Amino acid sequence: MLLAQLKECPVCRGELSGRPEKCPGCGVELTPYYEQLDEANKALAEAFNAATRGEFEHAREMGSKAQAIIPLVEDQVSLLHVRIAIGERRLADAWEKAESLPDTVREKSELLHEIASLHELETSGKQHFNLALTSACHEYYADASYHIERAVELIPYIPAVWRLAVKIELKRRRYDFARKYLEQGVQMFPNERYLASLAEELNRDNA
Ligand SMILES: [Zn+2]
Repeated sequence: MLLAQLKECPVCRGELSGRPEKCPGCGVELTPYYEQLDEANKALAEAFNAATRGEFEHAREMGSKAQAIIPLVEDQVSLLHVRIAIGERRLADAWEKAESLPDTVREKSELLHEIASLHELETSGKQHFNLALTSACHEYYADASYHIERAVELIPYIPAVWRLAVKIELKRRRYDFARKYLEQGVQMFPNERYLASLAEELNRDNA
C-alpha cells in the first residue's frame, strides 16, 4: 500500500527530498506537516486493513479521518475507495474510480487489471446462473446442478445464487447437497430470509 509523503513544500510548492526540518526554498517549519502526515498515514493503514477484512464502514470512516487531518492524502483516499468498491463488488463503480486516479498512483494499472478480471469472472458466473435457471425451468435438473455449482464458485457474493442452488438440489432430492449449500449460504448471508427459513425447516425435519 502506498503511504502519503511530503514531496513538495505545502507553502511554496518547492520540491522536497528526504525529510528536511525546514523547507530549503521558503524556510517554513515542516515538522508539523510531518506529524499530521504520520497521523493521517496511520488512519489510512487502518482503513486499508479494515477494507481487507471486509469492514467497509470502518474503512470509510478512517479514510475520511485521514483526509480531514491533511488533505494531502487525497490520492490514497481515492485508492481506498476503489478497494472498498471492489470489496463490495461494485465493479463498474470500482472501474470508474480506478480510471480517474491520477497516473502518478503506482497501483493504478494493476488495479484496472484486477477489476477487469473480476468482471470477467462475474460475467461468466452470471452466465452459469442464467443457464442453471433456464435448465431448472425446463426441468433439466442435472444440467441445472452443473451450472449452479459453477455459479456458486464464481459469484458466491450474490444471494440469489445460493437460493437457486438449494432449490435445484431439493428438486433433485439430493438433500445432502441442498443442506451443504444452505449452510454455506446462511453463513454468507445470515439475514437472507428465504435461506434462513429453509434451514430452519430442514433442521426441524431432522429433529
Ligand atoms: Zn517552501
